[in-house]
Amino acid sequence: MTDGTQTTDTETRDDQPVDHEQLSHATRLILDAVGEDPERDGLVDTWERRVPDAYKELTQGYREAEKPTMRTFDAEGEDLVVKTGIPFYSLCEHHLLPFHGEAHVAYRPDGQVVGLSKLVRYVKWASRRLTIQEQLTRDISEGLAEEIGADAVLVELSATHMCEAMRGVEAHTTTTSRASVGEFDDDERQRFRDAIAAEGRR
Ligand code: ZN
Repeated sequence: MTDGTQTTDTETRDDQPVDHEQLSHATRLILDAVGEDPERDGLVDTWERRVPDAYKELTQGYREAEKPTMRTFDAEGEDLVVKTGIPFYSLCEHHLLPFHGEAHVAYRPDGQVVGLSKLVRYVKWASRRLTIQEQLTRDISEGLAEEIGADAVLVELSATHMCEAMRGVEAHTTTTSRASVGEFDDDERQRFRDAIAAEGRR
């Protein structure tokens, strides 16, 4: 392996930082609306500082400046690179509640590979926004294909949604979603499934 060139992203998103003051105001309104006293001890820091700071971190995926640098390296061969069991935490856009679980990623290199820890950091960054699971699965597969310049990318997410687990029947279910870019042959798909099954047995 030799040093390769760093991939660049031509698309620039709105890199505005979060509006701390507005988040603070909005949190105070929610506390008031549910019948709390925003001025009582224990809640002042909640709307003044803690919730705005949490949202700043949990929405980093909107900001390109927070995206991990995906340095790629020249590599020979087209053997599938597989990384399973990547933890992710995201927020559902319907309820602003967390959904979280594991991401499994496979890609077929096209002359370039990226460190496995970068895959983990990319999934983490991409998850930090308001979204739905299917969209996040697509975002990760398409984003990685572009970042790595890979021929083909397969992504599977299995997640528990707090909006389901905490509301209504409090069902604790796991939802699985898949997305891919490019074509995979049967052997490659089987290898990916086997790797995920092995991860599940650990
Ligand atoms: Zn939801």
